[in-house]
This record gives sequence, C-alpha cells and structure tokens, in this order.
Amino acid sequence: MRSAAWAGDQPITQTWNDPCCRAAYARFGLRGHNGLDLGCWTGTVLSAMRPGVVQWSGYDGSGYGELVIVRHDDDGAQWYYGHQHVRLVATGDRVAAGTRLGTSGNTGNSSGPHLHLGKRPAGYDPENGFGGFVDPVPDLIFSLAPPPPPVPPVPPVPPTPEEVALMTDWELINYVLAPLYAWAGMAAAFNPDGGIQKCWVAALRAGVYAGRPRTGDRPYGSAANPEAGWWAEFEHRVLIYHQDGTMSWNG
Ligand SMILES: [Zn+2]
Repeated sequence: MRSAAWAGDQPITQTWNDPCCRAAYARFGLRGHNGLDLGCWTGTVLSAMRPGVVQWSGYDGSGYGELVIVRHDDDGAQWYYGHQHVRLVATGDRVAAGTRLGTSGNTGNSSGPHLHLGKRPAGYDPENGFGGFVDPVPDLIFSLAPPPPPVPPVPPVPPTPEEVALMTDWELINYVLAPLYAWAGMAAAFNPDGGIQKCWVAALRAGVYAGRPRTGDRPYGSAANPEAGWWAEFEHRVLIYHQDGTMSWNG
C-alpha cells in the first residue's frame, strides 16, 4: 500500500477494528484497533499529507511511544503517527504537504517495527468506542506513483551455520531478518488467504533461524539495536528451509 504519509509500498499488518485483535484493546477501553498499522521497516520516512501544524511531537507513555500528531489546516483533523524511531519536527512547527515528520520504528506498546496511523476528525466523539478516532483509510492520501509490476516472491537464501557463526547480532538483523521481513510482505500480497499478519510474525520468528538462542538477560537492544523486544520474544521459534524451497515453522 502506497500513500503520501509513508515512503514505499508497505504491507498492512492490522486494519481498522481488525477482528483478529479486538480483545487486546478492551483493556484500553476500546472496541478494537483504532488506526491502521503498516509493517514498515524501522527507518521508513514518514511525511505530512497536507499543510498543517504539529500539535505534539514527543514520547507518549500511554502506548504510542515516539509520537507526532499533525493537525491539518483544511479540515482540522488530527493524524497520529505512532511508534516512531526518530522524530524530525517539534510541537508547534508548521508543516507543508510532504514535510518529513520522522522515521518509523518500534517504540511504545509495539511488538515489531510498524507505523500506527490514526485519524481523529475535528469535533470527534470521544465516546465512539475508539477514543474519538475513525477509520483513516477513506481519507488517506494515496500516492499517485504507479505501483511496480508484480513479481513472484522468492524467499531469501539463508546463510550457512558457518556464516552465521561469524556474524554479529547486527549483521544477523540486516542480512537474515530484514530480507525475510521484506519477503514476507511480498509473499502476503500473493497469498491473501495466509494473511499478512501471519507472514509478518513468521518473519519475526525467522530471526532465530540462525540458531543462536538468546536469553532475556542480555538484550538485544541497546542503542545500536532498537529492535530488542521482539527478537527475544520469538527466540525459541525456528524456521526450517526445505530442499524444495518452501519453509515451515517449528515452535
Ligand atoms: Zn496500531
């Protein structure tokens, strides 16, 4: 999915009010997911869609993590860009269409790198069951750039155990996990029945293929590696590559 709000073609990992996950939002007093999640890799550039004012740029402790809220001039709607890695604007800044707001990340209440995009219209109803938010898709400004022609997804070639043994953790992320993540997004587009979210989780699990079990005490997650949480979360899962090129999951 392409839009003026983010760079590139990004897979949807959770729709508005996704039936998959309503229970998880009950504890926040919500009927369901009150935005749109895009499974973009950390560092994806996020942009303002229309001229407006940055109403908030900072760390939100309630779950959004690094958050930028832009209020559009024309209709007064507030757009929430949550879980960012780096914010590039300050509260009160004026923005034009296309102004860079920050880059996507995995901060706050987030189980993997993604952008949470929320829309709260002017005069919103705080009692609508979604905290005043509405489905952002109808008013998302989609990019006019034509999508690239479809190509069949090909899973990346896994490194050998010998190669893995020589890699640093950071190299594992970049050369093992990131390509799998990209592949999972593409594969999902070709396999709607499988579900994007399933593929996404599968890609996260893939991080362990390397066969380097980790314990929670030495986090994967220092300044050099913001992706700490989810690696540990899936560390006991194993991805198996089969001779015929298919993959399956163990654990
Ligand atoms: Zn979300």
